[in-house]
Amino acid sequence: MREITTFIKIFWAVLYHMSSTGTIVKSTGSWYTVLDENGKKHECRLRGKFKIAGSKATNPVAVGDRVDFHIEHQGGGNTAVITAIHDRRNYIIRKATKLSRLTHVIAANIDQAVIIATLAEPRTSTGFIDRLLVTCEAYSIPAIIVFNKCDLIVTDDYKQALYEMTDIYSSAGYHCITVSATQRLYLDLFANALRNRISLLAGHSGVGKSTLINAIEPGINLKVQPISETHLKGKHTTTFAEMIPLSTGGYIIDTPGIKEFGLVDFMPEELYHFFPEMRALFNRCKFDNCTHFNEPGCLVKEYVEEGKISISRYNNYIGMLLGEER
Ligand code: GDP
Ligand code: ZN
Repeated sequence: MREITTFIKIFWAVLYHMSSTGTIVKSTGSWYTVLDENGKKHECRLRGKFKIAGSKATNPVAVGDRVDFHIEHQGGGNTAVITAIHDRRNYIIRKATKLSRLTHVIAANIDQAVIIATLAEPRTSTGFIDRLLVTCEAYSIPAIIVFNKCDLIVTDDYKQALYEMTDIYSSAGYHCITVSATQRLYLDLFANALRNRISLLAGHSGVGKSTLINAIEPGINLKVQPISETHLKGKHTTTFAEMIPLSTGGYIIDTPGIKEFGLVDFMPEELYHFFPEMRALFNRCKFDNCTHFNEPGCLVKEYVEEGKISISRYNNYIGMLLGEER
């Protein structure tokens, strides 16, 4: 009999400490919705003072984080408690306040940023696209570019402009797709690009982010907002992201904080690391610390002159190097 009691005690102890693994799909700041491996959702909280050693973040976990959790049985009720956070593949942050060294993690483990751009109504500048791409490179988030509203590309000038834009970004190594949300052109390319991936949507207001998502996933009702016209230095706003599942597999990260996605601090001599076509020439200029501005023996400038690196990308690089807004 004693053996059985001991067995039951051990059994309960094991059960009690058994943890499951899942992904945070929603956060309110105090409660986290964790989706487990069987597709079941659990409302979890963090235990006491859960801090990541060395982290300056105001929120220790964010949407996209992989976590361990277990169910605690207390006073008749059950509470799911997050006990561990897995290493992140990447994450994006914004400063908690303008001058603060504290940061707010918007989302973690993002598979890709999907930059939506348009050549007309409104026209997205290459400067804007390049700043977003630099941010993605800095955060190790792969990026693709979707040119929407291709139904408006009717004149030869527009066709030429679209051809040039696609050429600039595919030569730099980015996958480009051209679609029309309203005319439902090439939407399968867009849907395929999102399939089974966790995607962060980025782009100015009015480029058709909501229309595009609704076109491939009717009724999803996205809250997508524009990023960064105002330059992000920002006041403190507590914003929490949400991961919205797509029926074809994958998620879209919907976050009010995306407005502020676009801020990175960099050292001038490391900026070119965030331009893959320039990074490829690493250490091949005359000077090791070449900023590719006006130094002699600069291979990057040679490539630009020979048309092997896009002049538009290079000009925007120089603009960022000099701290100009373009
Ligand atoms: P968001 O601010 O990026 O979410 O943009 P919306 O989805 O709200 O779209 C802004 C406007 O652009 C709306 O009037 C849409 O009807 C229009 N729009 C979206 N996609 C297309 C497109 O492919 N072609 C054209 N001509 N208009 C579009
Ligand atoms: Zn150089």
